[in-house]
Amino acid sequence: MIYCSRCGTQNEDNNYKCIKCEALLHEPLGDRIPRMVEEYVPDYLVWSILTTLFCCLPVGIVAIVFSAQVNTKVKVGDIAGARDSSKKAKMWCWISVASWAVFVVIGIVAVMVGTIFN
Ligand SMILES: [Zn+2]
Repeated sequence: MIYCSRCGTQNEDNNYKCIKCEALLHEPLGDRIPRMVEEYVPDYLVWSILTTLFCCLPVGIVAIVFSAQVNTKVKVGDIAGARDSSKKAKMWCWISVASWAVFVVIGIVAVMVGTIFN
């Protein structure tokens, strides 16, 4: 059942117009199809923010920029572009994590070397 937003009359779900006042119950089907086929493209925004905070700030910011582009591109219907930005966001998240790991390893080695030679 769907309620008419103008007069409150109950209508069948598949009714196009209200049986009482003829107000449109749904948007015309043609307008709904593009939104139904709209694809979900992961934006990795959470990961970008986390890697920026905990790993590597400059690299994380690059990831955030690509993450933001994903949603913008999905909104304008550029799915291929959104997928491309999504891939880049993911890649920069990994680069951020990797560079963080390298710094941690260098740090541990530096501490060990310092301990040995002191
Ligand atoms: Zn109505």
